[in-house]
Formats: sequence, C-alpha cells, structure tokens
Amino acid sequence: MLENLNKMYNAGLYIRLSREDDDKIHFSESITNQKSLLLQYTKENNLKVYDIYIDDGYSGTNFERPAFKKLLRDIENHKVNMVITKDLSRLGRDYIGTGNFVEKYFPEHHIRYIAVTDNIDTFLDNSNNDIAPFKAIMNDMYAKDISKKIKSSLKAKMKEGKWVGGRTPFGYEQDKDNKNHLVINEEQARIVKRIFDMCLSGLSFYKIAQKLTNEKVKTPAQYYRFEWKNNYHLKYGKWHSKTISDILTNRMYIGDLVQNKRNKINYKIKKVAKNMESDYIIVPNTHEAIIDKELFYEVQTRIPKNVGRCEKKENHLLDGLLYCGDCGHRISITSRRKKDNRCYTICNYYRTYMKQRLCTTHSNNYDELEKVIINSLTKMCSNFIMKDKIKDSILSNLDKMGTVNNKKELEILHNDLKQINDNLDDIYIDKLNKKITEEQFERVKLKLENELLIKQKKYSELNNNINDTISEETKNKMITEYIHRFLSMKKPNRELIINLIDRIEIFENKNINIRVTFKDVY
Ligand SMILES: [Zn+2]
Repeated sequence: MLENLNKMYNAGLYIRLSREDDDKIHFSESITNQKSLLLQYTKENNLKVYDIYIDDGYSGTNFERPAFKKLLRDIENHKVNMVITKDLSRLGRDYIGTGNFVEKYFPEHHIRYIAVTDNIDTFLDNSNNDIAPFKAIMNDMYAKDISKKIKSSLKAKMKEGKWVGGRTPFGYEQDKDNKNHLVINEEQARIVKRIFDMCLSGLSFYKIAQKLTNEKVKTPAQYYRFEWKNNYHLKYGKWHSKTISDILTNRMYIGDLVQNKRNKINYKIKKVAKNMESDYIIVPNTHEAIIDKELFYEVQTRIPKNVGRCEKKENHLLDGLLYCGDCGHRISITSRRKKDNRCYTICNYYRTYMKQRLCTTHSNNYDELEKVIINSLTKMCSNFIMKDKIKDSILSNLDKMGTVNNKKELEILHNDLKQINDNLDDIYIDKLNKKITEEQFERVKLKLENELLIKQKKYSELNNNINDTISEETKNKMITEYIHRFLSMKKPNRELIINLIDRIEIFENKNINIRVTFKDVY
C-alpha cells in the first residue's frame, strides 16, 4: 500500500542554515544534521529524492534565497511533487510568507509538504486517509531524534565524572545530597573487600561463589530487589562465578567512575547491548575507593584472561519475546549445540534454581517453535484482515479532543526547547566572541542543558501519550499495513515481528499463547 504510494513521489529536500554568515563554522554542523535526518527519513519511507537544496547562511525572514528559488522552478516544471524540511522554520521564519507556501502555493501545485520534526504533513488534513500511517512514522522519527539528544547529553555528564543513574555498583549507593555522586554502602563494601581477600588467598571464582552461597551471604540481586522493588525478598541467593569475576575486575572499586558500558540498541525496543571496552567512559577518582589500588592490580594479575568471553551470539527472530507461561520469567534461547546444530529454549528461572526445582525446563527445539509461531501468526493475521473487511471503518473520533489539548502543550514545549537551544547557540557565540569567560559559559551552559533535559523528557513523554491516543482508526490502519507486509513476505523480519507480537508464553505442556498487538479475532 504505502510502497506503491511512495513511487509517486519525487522529493525535494530543503535545508537552510539558521543563522547569519559569520556563524557558519559552528552551524555547518547543523546542515549535516538536517541532511542526515532528511535522508534517513526518505530512506525509511522508501521515498525517491529528486534533489537536495541547500541555502547556507540565508536568513529565514524572506524568500530571496537561491536554492529555494531553484526548488520553486523545479516544482513549476513538475520535477518535484513533495517538499520535505526538518521543521517548519527551515522553510521560513516569516509567518505570513511561510503560511502562504504551506496553505496556498503547495496545495495549488499539488505538492505534499512534510516538516519532519513538527509533525506537519499537508496531505493528512485532507480526507485522504490512505496516508495516515505517515503521521505515526513522523512521531517516531522525532522520538528518535529526542532520544539521541538525551543520549548525547547523558554522555556529556558521564565525561564530567557524574554518575548518571541506574543500578549503583554493588558496594555503593547514591549520595543523598548529590544524586550524581556515589558513596560507600558499608554493609556491601565489607562483602566486596572479602571477595578481594579471598581471591588473594588463592581461591577460584567458583570456590568463592560456593563459599558465599553456603554462608547465605546476600547477593547483589537480593540487595537490589530489596531496595528497588518494594522491599521484595528473594528467597534464594546464589553467587555465580561471573558475579565474582565482575566484582574483581570492576575499576569502580578503586574510585574510578566507569560508565557507558551498555547501549540501548533502539529507542523502541528496551533491549540493551554491551559496549566495547574502548567505548567506556572512565573518569578517575570521582568517589571514595573500597579497594586500594595496589591490592586491585595485584588481583588483576591472577584473573584468567578468557573468563566470560563468549562468542558472538546468534540473533533469533523471537529474541526477547518469549516468556515462561508457568512462572512468568523470561525464556532464553541457548546457542547452537555442536552435536545436532540445534538451539533450545529454557526457562531462566528453572536454569537459575535448578536444584530448588522452582520451575521446569520448558525445553523446545527453537527452530521448530519459530515455525509453529510464525504459522499461527499468519493465521491470526489472515483472520484479522477478513474480519476487517467485513466490519470496515465505522469508528468514532472520541479521543480527538484529548489529542488536540496535548498537541497544544506539545507545541509550547517544542517552542521552549527551541528557545533553550537558541540560547545555547547564543552563549556559545558570546564565548567565541570572548564576550563571556569560559567559566561563565560553562555555568550557563550547564544550567541550560539541565533545563533542556527536563523539558525533553517531558516532551517525549507527552509525545508518547499522543502516540497512544492516535485515534483507533489510525492505529487500525498502521496495524493493517504491518499485517499486509507480514503476509506478503516469505521470511518475516524482526521489525514486523516486534510490531505484531507483544509476548509469547510457552507452557511446559507445550501450549503456546501468542499475545499480538492487534485485536485477535478469536
Ligand atoms: Zn518457568
């Protein structure tokens, strides 16, 4: 559906520098950003790009700009029938002039105009609903943009030696007076010290783990659960060799802050990947040490080099979607066995507490399981399409009002964000011009960045809310789109699977329950 539609479009990507000529060096950066955002957008939507028009250093308050004029010529010669900009202000800052183009000139020339981060799509206001999925895609794009910004601002904090949150390393807790600073948790620190001493006395990781387990010393997981998950007590605590080796190699214990160890793969999937060690952000001496350096480096010489290094894991279509139907914990997929070249599923809870028999294996041949699940999904999808055809669209516009209010708030926030960004630009220029000192700049910058972070969070929350309340009809359209794509594909890809399946529950008696993101008609 969407694919065929996209073939009709020849997009003109219009890029404009936001400031006057003398700031070019600083802002050429943002030309690159605009360009990559637009190219990514067109790539993700399979759009054909006719040309990229760049006005470098031209003011947005009038339309006397060479590249823009060339764009208009190409429109009049029917070379371009779609115009895309990063946001509305790229087109122009003059309200009346810009409005003229968006509301009069483009419609008269049958131009579809899209301002990616402003969620403007001129064809959406028409009753032409075939194009509704676009809107969601754009909301998505912006969420992605924001999540990138948050990421880079977090990294900046890490580089300043600030703890940016998450689970504190075993032995430490957040300083109550400064959440970006760590202080020692005495009870846990004693265990850490003991582990280092045991290693020094020659015990293997396995032996250390065994000893601690037998003595019923509380594990990091038990402390964590108790502190963070409503005082929930984990009955069984088992120390693993991996936990021991992680503790023994962690530089946090000599007072160095090690962050950026993990990376969220995608803002949509809550999946985390380990970073390479070269990507770690390490700042020395940011907090009190538990282990002195001499002891730490002595212990490092005793650690076998290949502990915990496993080969790159195979990616499975159903990774992260499988859950145990009997105990509710995740189900993992084992790596391929040499013997029969097969992967198996296994309940994590069973695997962790094998001796206590808290759950059962839930072992299945993964490839077979995948086939069965894809087959069921295909059936569910075909049923959905059939049913959809019959009832067609008789859906109301109930939550339209709520969406309108949210949108107004979003707009205000968006302007605030722009203002803060402009302010940041301004003080940067002031610094370059030596109007303010480095210290003054840093201070104001920090304050603005903090403000930015808070508002960005609010923005993405609200944006998510709006996404949630996109009218049923639009949702329906999107899902239908995914389902059509899924049914037309010989081998489904991960993107479609994630969008169609919420979770899969596997029971020991081989029953399978697939929870889909669309209304299952059974
Ligand atoms: Zn289980």
